[in-house]
Amino acid sequence: MPAMSSFLVEVSAEEIRRERRKARDLRATQWWKRKRAAGVCHHCGGKFAVEELTMDHLVPIVRGGKSTKGNVAPSCKACNTARKHDLPFPTSA
Ligand SMILES: [Zn+2]
Repeated sequence: MPAMSSFLVEVSAEEIRRERRKARDLRATQWWKRKRAAGVCHHCGGKFAVEELTMDHLVPIVRGGKSTKGNVAPSCKACNTARKHDLPFPTSA
């Protein structure tokens, strides 16, 4: 059985700031606007209005996840909130 501690990554405050900045840039791209315009939540598969979908990091930044196309997906508010409860500490800036 693999040790759960392998999920704990050291991420510096500076790295977190950098990835959040990249996420902001990514949100401004046509790629993201198209993806969000599809209106589908990556987690529950439900259909939502564009403004109800937020950018969710599949691997959270605080766990070493990057703001790359492969690590972000549209998420509805309910799924986003549910996932936030899984985080080891609050991430609000
Ligand atoms: Zn959802």
